[in-house]
Amino acid sequence: MISPVLPTYARAPLSFVKGQGPWLETEDGTCYLDMGAGIAVNSLGHANPILVAALTDQARRLWHTSNLYDIPNQQALAERLVEHTFADTVFFTNSGTEATEASVKMVRKYFDHIGQSERYRIITCEGSFHGRTLGMISAAGSEKLTKGFGPMLEGFDYVPYGDLDAIKAAITPETAAVMLEPLLGEGGIVPLPEGMLKDIRALCDERGLLLVLDEIQTGVGRTGKLFAHEWAGVTPDIMAIAKGIGGGFPLGACLATERAAAGMTAGTHGTTFGGNPMACAVGCAVMDEVTSEGFLENVNRLAGHLRQGLEGLVASHPDVFDSVRGEGLMIGLKCNAINMDVINAGYAAHLLTVPAADNVIRILPPLNITIEEIDEALKRLDQAAVTVEGNL
Ligand SMILES: *Cc1c(COP(=O)(O)O)cnc(C)c1O
Repeated sequence: MISPVLPTYARAPLSFVKGQGPWLETEDGTCYLDMGAGIAVNSLGHANPILVAALTDQARRLWHTSNLYDIPNQQALAERLVEHTFADTVFFTNSGTEATEASVKMVRKYFDHIGQSERYRIITCEGSFHGRTLGMISAAGSEKLTKGFGPMLEGFDYVPYGDLDAIKAAITPETAAVMLEPLLGEGGIVPLPEGMLKDIRALCDERGLLLVLDEIQTGVGRTGKLFAHEWAGVTPDIMAIAKGIGGGFPLGACLATERAAAGMTAGTHGTTFGGNPMACAVGCAVMDEVTSEGFLENVNRLAGHLRQGLEGLVASHPDVFDSVRGEGLMIGLKCNAINMDVINAGYAAHLLTVPAADNVIRILPPLNITIEEIDEALKRLDQAAVTVEGNL
């Protein structure tokens, strides 16, 4: 008999009743060290008192009014995002996939607005993940996401990730934009080759294309910059964010330059819940923390420590681990053993990590984890590796 919850998830046999910082507690009081942070969502840890205060203060006053009216918290969060990024304007959503979807709609609308509606096609990358709406599984294009859900939304051209020549070759008079993650998340923590984002930006400028970045996983301090594209010294025209910006409350956004957003006038796009007062109250508190003095410096210091420890584990368990990759606190451990075996052994050691494609384990701790907690995680991962070695 089918379960009351639609069985679309292959869940671990674990559940938690409360959390504190990077720790999660089960009903029977067992504590797990959470190095996945709800897949890069709990950016400031579980039950962060600043976020709890922001949410409960708002919850006591007003939950929802609708986008029929001005929402002051939306305004406040948009101002923070505009102040700290390339963007001039922000559309709020409840999730990541709505933010990438809005980005694609904005691209199409832009070219329609400038009288070039024949330009609607978007170049995307194999191995990408942009969410699960029909539009966004079409954008990513992989069989794993699309099988059985056809027909797909038309208008995407796929190239291998990190292949500038393939992007060049895929451009036609109908091409409107290039959309990609600056560092593949679900796809296995795969970085772009050094300098490539700059080259892609230059190519887009040369050919009159918009550059759309999906920073849903990489954004909001995760890689040690507020947004990952800052490492490359370039900016997109449109950017989708979600996950970390809400710190655990559902919140996403599509950020854009004034030029790229020119077609998105009143009535062209909307949502009931997007930019909800409670979501935006939490979003403001997350932004204030992540942009506070020394916060990102600390993320980079933590990342250096974690990276060094993981390199040590790779050296001492070559049959289990192959290599470390990624940026900041968005780390992939490429495995030689089966990644799920290591993750399951981690569960036994009360450590939570997240699988990704390409036999990778993702390590995505809260951005305010401590050095001591990182050392504890390394100890538990070492224990998990010993277990896996024993079973090889
Ligand atoms: C998680 C993710 C999404 C989808 O976000 P949802 O909130 O699950 O819709 C899209 N793109 C990237 C890069 C992601 O990591």
